[in-house]
Amino acid sequence: MAQTYDVLVIGGGINGCGIARDAVGRGYSVMLAEMSDLASGTSSASTKLIHGGLRYLEHYEFRLVREALMEREVLWKMAPHIIWPMRFVLPYAKGLRPAWLLRLGLFLYDHLGGRKLLPATRTLNMRTDPAGAPLKPLFTKAFEYSDGWVNDARLVVLNARDAADRGAVVRTRTKVVSARREDKVWNVTLQDISTGHAEQVRARLLVNASGPWIDHVISGIVAQNDVHNVRLVQGSHIVVPKKFNDPRAYFFQNKDGRIIFAIPYEQDFTLIGTTDLDYGGDPHNVVISAGEIDYLCNAASEYFREPVTPADVVWTYSGVRPLFDDGASKAQEATRDYVLKADAPSGEAPIVNVFGGKITTYRRLAESMLEKIEDLIGKKGPAWTAGTTLPGGDFPPDGFELEVERLRTAYPFLRDREAFRLIRLYGTRAKVLLGNAKTLDDLGRMFGDELYEAEVRYLMQHEWAQTAEDVLWRRTKRGLKFVAEEVAALQVFMDDVRRQPAAAE
Ligand SMILES: Cc1cc2nc3c(=O)[nH]c(=O)nc-3n(C[C@H](O)[C@H](O)[C@H](O)COP(=O)(O)OP(=O)(O)OC[C@H]3O[C@@H](n4cnc5c(N)ncnc54)[C@H](O)[C@@H]3O)c2cc1C
Repeated sequence: MAQTYDVLVIGGGINGCGIARDAVGRGYSVMLAEMSDLASGTSSASTKLIHGGLRYLEHYEFRLVREALMEREVLWKMAPHIIWPMRFVLPYAKGLRPAWLLRLGLFLYDHLGGRKLLPATRTLNMRTDPAGAPLKPLFTKAFEYSDGWVNDARLVVLNARDAADRGAVVRTRTKVVSARREDKVWNVTLQDISTGHAEQVRARLLVNASGPWIDHVISGIVAQNDVHNVRLVQGSHIVVPKKFNDPRAYFFQNKDGRIIFAIPYEQDFTLIGTTDLDYGGDPHNVVISAGEIDYLCNAASEYFREPVTPADVVWTYSGVRPLFDDGASKAQEATRDYVLKADAPSGEAPIVNVFGGKITTYRRLAESMLEKIEDLIGKKGPAWTAGTTLPGGDFPPDGFELEVERLRTAYPFLRDREAFRLIRLYGTRAKVLLGNAKTLDDLGRMFGDELYEAEVRYLMQHEWAQTAEDVLWRRTKRGLKFVAEEVAALQVFMDDVRRQPAAAE
């Protein structure tokens, strides 16, 4: 007979992986099925901020903002390799929000909760502060406040890795194609999307964390009709060569009432985003439009001395927000809070659907989901994720530089830049990746931009990477530097490794 899990999670984005990790750590048996690669949906297409959401204050989302503000330092301590504090410079612009309103918003932001290590807001004289240098001289005053940065795709993978280390079964390239209630359990059909092979499993409870595919899963896969609770909103980003050297990011107000960020990105670039447009297509096909590129270039050019033009753009990415549909008229005003809706007819197996949610609040969303799971199928262990580090994050939040130095001492052949990058991606697990290497040659073939065979093999064995795209655009961002021939050679190598038995997970 097919194996029965307590919980089967549909979707390997941040919410699915966070829920799977929390549930398995409390003692439930858990399977997670992701139809593509981990974080291949919305969770690798975010602005990558661990933030309270300053602009949500304007929409009175105090519950969400407070919870998100409190999560900033909790998450930083859980994963100080991939999450770190960032200061944001918000220039005051005449004719837009008045200075007193900005000051009030930032006062609330500083005091709503949870800020112990992050520094408070301060006012900047942009004529003398280096943050003023790349901007037009008309911006003479700004406010500087704290939020955090996250490598979003790696946060997803590390949650999956930790869930698997604790006993969860994590299957990628595995689509849930049907689920039917029978004898108080779900009979679920999974399909391996590479081979087409189908498999049956059973589950006492389903979690639908399929992000923007949620309505499709509800109506097409579990055959329910409680759809139309989600509002799909496209958001796009552009990446341009570095516009400024300052480690701080900018928060720019636009004339249309929206805001955009300009953020230091991957050492050599600036990330600019985002947009808010209602979306009606298949979430897999979302792509930036020429209009969005123009919008982001024009909005940033209102502030930077040197304009940003479409010709500067080296990469773009787009994602679809699966927002809870609260009936707001404009996409930018739809709530960013999450809603968990259970369908649990008496005597039948339950399903809980996840609507909305931010990367920042994923851990709290998982805790709320676990409360529902406890009510529906019985309680197991207590809440545990606050204060338990993610793989590679077992060092103090202010200990990043020390970890880089330790790695350099253990592997003297690494240059500073390489050691820095390895700790940023893998934290203390960089040593597992490097093993007994004594020279760069021991790391094997180099595919481009200091990506060695040892790292690729590590990603295949420990992090479910199967394609060059998984490695170059989600586990790392080396894609920014790779040329087409290098990508092709990496793919050939990975295909060869996968043909060797038991090489990849
Ligand atoms: C432009 C933009 C900027 C954002 N910026 C931020 C930010 O700065 N900070 C922040 O906190 N949040 C941000 N967010 C919000 C955040 O990214 C999302 O709320 C979050 O990633 C949603 O995660 P998810 O797990 O629900 O969905 P997803 O990441 O989309 O995961 C759902 C997964 O389900 C899988 N799936 C679907 N159907 C099936 C099936 N039948 N079988 C198996 N698998 C299936 C999909 O392949 C997908 O991987 C941003 C979002 C966008 C779009």
